[in-house]
Amino acid sequence: MAFIKRKTAVKPVEAPRDYSELENAGDLLNFAAKNKIRTEPLDISSLAQLLGIKMIFEPMDGDDSGSLKKNKKTGEWVMKVNSLHHPNRQRFTIAHELGHFINDSANQDEFSDTVFFRNGESNPMEVAANRFAAELLLPEESFRKYIEYTSSKVEDIADYFHVSSLAVRIRAKQLGYTGHNV
Ligand SMILES: [Zn+2]
Repeated sequence: MAFIKRKTAVKPVEAPRDYSELENAGDLLNFAAKNKIRTEPLDISSLAQLLGIKMIFEPMDGDDSGSLKKNKKTGEWVMKVNSLHHPNRQRFTIAHELGHFINDSANQDEFSDTVFFRNGESNPMEVAANRFAAELLLPEESFRKYIEYTSSKVEDIADYFHVSSLAVRIRAKQLGYTGHNV
């Protein structure tokens, strides 16, 4: 018996992971849902790992939130998060770095971040990464629904989405809410 190469039975080569179609926070949320990752509140660490990013949680100096760097030898992206920060702040850090990953990683190999929501932040790349993070952790539709059907208290919203009260207030302002609660 001979083994004959059959031209028609070529095993398809597994396509390289290509995430270039993921262009914004909404795309990432759809991608998470498709891959059975919880989206409300978003399981953001799993999402980052699914994107092939190596996650490292370690203690850092006070104001350092985290960083995202490409290993020049292996091409692997590594995200470090300050494990001393409140878990909700760590989530925002990861979301912010994912903003850099999606928006900026084609042009830059290294991002380091300290304090977010700096008053008068003027670097457009940082403003965009914060915006991306807010859209990822507090998607407009879910945010509005929660306020309409469940509660408009900042603390309740923060608890539900696992973000800080400050993040909720900023998001509420972005979406045009005003008042004592949001
Ligand atoms: Zn940044």
